Parts: sequence; C-alpha cells; structure tokens
Amino acid sequence: MSYPTLLDTPIQAFDRTEFDTYVMNTYGRFPIAIEKGQGCRLWDTEGREYLDFVAGIATCTLGHAHPALIETVQQQIQKLHHVSNLYYIPEQGALAKWIVDHSCADRVFFCNSGAEANEAAIKLVRKYAHTVLDFLEKPVILTAKASFHGRTLATITATGQPKYQQDFEPLMPGFVYVPYNDIKAVENAIADLDEGNSRVAAIMLEPLQGEGGVRPGDLDYFLRLRKICDENSILLVFDEVQVGVGRSGKLWGYENLGVEPDIFTSAKGLAGGIPIGAMMCKKFCDVFTPGTHASTFGGNPFASAAALTVLQTIEKENILQNVQARGEQLRTRLRAIVSQYPNLFTEVRGWGLINGLELQENIQLTSPDIVKAAMEEGLLLAPAGPKVLRFVPPLIVSENEVEEAVDILGKVIANINQ
Ligand SMILES: *Cc1c(COP(=O)(O)O)cnc(C)c1O
Repeated sequence: MSYPTLLDTPIQAFDRTEFDTYVMNTYGRFPIAIEKGQGCRLWDTEGREYLDFVAGIATCTLGHAHPALIETVQQQIQKLHHVSNLYYIPEQGALAKWIVDHSCADRVFFCNSGAEANEAAIKLVRKYAHTVLDFLEKPVILTAKASFHGRTLATITATGQPKYQQDFEPLMPGFVYVPYNDIKAVENAIADLDEGNSRVAAIMLEPLQGEGGVRPGDLDYFLRLRKICDENSILLVFDEVQVGVGRSGKLWGYENLGVEPDIFTSAKGLAGGIPIGAMMCKKFCDVFTPGTHASTFGGNPFASAAALTVLQTIEKENILQNVQARGEQLRTRLRAIVSQYPNLFTEVRGWGLINGLELQENIQLTSPDIVKAAMEEGLLLAPAGPKVLRFVPPLIVSENEVEEAVDILGKVIANINQ
C-alpha cells in the first residue's frame, strides 16, 4: 500500500499567505521557501539556487542529503525509531561512549534541543549546590552579557540580553550577568554575591559567543576562570550548542581555550539537523539519580544513530582539517573586504567555520540588509545581531564554494557601496 506524502505535493502550490494564516507568527522569515538541498546548495520552491552559508544556523554539519546520514536514518527507521528511556537504548549508549571517548566528559544526558541541554545543566548545577555545596539554598549562576542560551524561561533568564526577556517576567531567580571576557567583573561578582545561604555555584558561558555577535573567548580570561572555579568549588559550564561538534576547527569549542569545563552542552550540529541535545559532565555526574531528570524523546534510537553517524563521519573524513583550512581561507578573503571598505566594516572574528564580519556602528546599514541583498544574489547568510554578518556553512564546504561565496558577497557590497 502506498500513502500520499508531502513529496507528492506540487511545489509551485506553495502559498506564503496560507502559511502565515495557520502558523503562529513567531519568526520574521525571509520571503523564500526552501524545497531541496544537496551538499552546500539549496533550491527554493521557484527553482532558484542558493549557496548555503547558514546550514540551518550552524546545524547541518554534513550539509544536505549527505549519503552517510541518509543511509543511517533510512536503516534506523526501518529497524526501530523510538522506544522510551524505560528501556536500554543501544544506539544512545554507543553515542554516549563516542562522546566520552572524544571529550573531557565522563557521562552524557540526552534531550532534544540546545535550550533543553542548558536546562539540564542548570538543574544539575542547582542540585550540586543543594546537595554537594553544604546545602546551599540560593545558588547563583553567573552568565555573560550578550550571551544566548535558548528560549525556555530558565534559558532566557540565563541569556544576558534584555530583548529576549522582555514581557516574560517574572524571570527565574538565581542568575547574575557579567561582561564577557572581563575577569575582574567575575571576581567582583563572586565576592559581592557571597552572603548567608547564597553564593555563586556556577559560571555558564559560550566558549565563543555566537548569537551575540560571533565573539571568541580570550584564552587568558578562560585560564583564569578555570582557576577561580577550582579554588571556589564553582562549576564551569560551557554552552557549546553552536560552537561544538567540529565547527570551531576542533571537535569541541573549549579545545581552543586550553581549559576543560565541568559541564558542557551540545545540540545544533550534533546530529546534522536531526533534533537532539546533550549535556556532558564530569566529576559531579552522580548528582543526577534515577527520577531527577528525564526526556521522552531524549536519545531515542533515531536521533542517536544520526548523531553517531555525524561524529564518525567527521572523524573518518578528516573534516576538522577542512574546517580549519576553509576557515582560514574565508577569514583571509573577508579581511580583504574589510580593508577595501573600512567605511562599512570593522573586523572579521571567528574560529574554524563560525565567523563574523562586523559592520560599523555609526552607519545605517545593518546585517539583515546585507543578508537580504546576498540572498537575492544566491548566497544565504545569517545575521548575528544587527551589526554582525554570520558565516556558518556546512563543515564539508569546498575551497571553490568559499571563493564563490565571497565573490558574491563582494559584488553585493560593491552595489551597496555605490
Ligand atoms: C541556538 C543556541 C541555543 C538554543 O538552542 P535551541 O536548540 O534553539 O533550543 C542555546 N545556546 C546557544 C549558544 C545557541 O547558539
């Protein structure tokens, strides 16, 4: 028996007005609908081709329609796609082992998104504070200004950007913000917040701030943070949802900083676009005991098999080497654009294949303006705030595709600058 599927719907019939009638209006969408993809190329419902330097926002690690991922998900869905964490799930165990073997972590908890992974980390920190840190009743988590940690209530509170919190008060208690890459601010906050049954129990940071403007962490800052955390029994938590899984040129973002976190989280690129989230921890993993935290879908056979395939493919095909080389190539070419248009741009920042091109503050031009103009010329980019253009292509991007992307961007900017 065969069932009609979405694949049988003629693509020309796509109607944005109808879409907007039925789907809740939470996104400012660009006016195209993507229909299919291959590698770093996408095609919209009108047949226009795009070079994809967004990758589902740093998510489609292996690009689109990668044969390894196709084979795994096809096989897995035929065999078994979901059971429950009531039972042992061999694929979940194999994925956890791979991550533990290739990171500083001792154990892994699985969920379905970045926000959920960070929620798990926040809960673990609080339970650590209540049960390990002398029954500390009011633990505080320090996070950074301009950070991004997700859209649930706890994670918008952790996010140090008022625009994500507005109209959702009351926020969660127990979060305090410090400027990023500023060690003095951390030292002051720890001293100021130490009173009675309340003190800093964890510091939660992105190794490189993604959403907040593609801002890499300073080595010296993170080295000193690690020392402060060790001396004060404070857990160091890294949100690697965007920068992890090879995007930085190393498997994990923290490897660029020369320090290891106590807890770190992953999601976006972990299963190459199949929904998954994970929290990795060492030392205090036993704080979570049966019944303390759970997720229905977390680490199901389908998502786990997909993630394991992504990770094994990164290893087998030496993809980290490509990330480093293509990242250097991209930054070199973008720096030439900055030199050519000092009136428009300030600098290029990033690691591996997460890079940002920053616009001058005092001009009208914004990053969404350039994103729209580039889209019309067949290049997809994403803003990271109003003044930074973000480049996060699939990690398999080729030398020619990087050249082509910067050529298109150069043309777009030349037009804008006329
Ligand atoms: C995208 C992102 C999140 C949120 O992930 P979701 O899967 O959308 O919940 C959290 N932290 C960082 C650093 C991110 O980039």
